Amino acid sequence: MSSGNKSIISKIPAREWRGLVPAMEGGRLKVALICHLCGTTDHWTAAQMVGPQTALPKVIQMGWRADGKVTCPACIAAKRKKPEGKVVPMKLVTPVATAGDVDLDQMKKHKRLVILALEDYFDEASRRYREGKTDKAIADELDLSDAFVAKVREEFYGAIAEPEDVAAFRAQLDAAKQLCADLERQLSGLCQRNGWRV
Ligand SMILES: [Zn+2]
Repeated sequence: MSSGNKSIISKIPAREWRGLVPAMEGGRLKVALICHLCGTTDHWTAAQMVGPQTALPKVIQMGWRADGKVTCPACIAAKRKKPEGKVVPMKLVTPVATAGDVDLDQMKKHKRLVILALEDYFDEASRRYREGKTDKAIADELDLSDAFVAKVREEFYGAIAEPEDVAAFRAQLDAAKQLCADLERQLSGLCQRNGWRV
């Protein structure tokens, strides 16, 4: 009897089990689940031999994934968390749209976090960020949006002063423009004195 069942299992191509490991134990089918990421094990059993078409949906119902590799629910959740991590805080950016108390508390907490970061990274005297920090750097660090950080900074610390390098270059450019204006004035004076059209 059990050897007959074994041969049934062996007739189904292994790939159709998509990584599941079926075996007959005491007349029952036992499908072993072994997570390919963390090694967690579980199993699903049936009173008699069934094929992967029946077993797979049951395993998926248990929260597992079998797509050639078998993955446990915890590892699926952990994988899912990563890309969503960046997206979730987006809704906190628009507290106006979700004016519930919970969101308001959440927003206050985020505000405090941004202020703490600004205390470290923003120099109030020069109204500039220290060593390469930016609104975006804080946003990335706290997993919030750039716009939210900018709003909190504007509210509590004010506008950012022009970066030193930019200010220095602008001063140079202003001086050059002044020089050009002076030279043009001199040119038109010279033309007039020589009766030449300006
Ligand atoms: Zn796992």
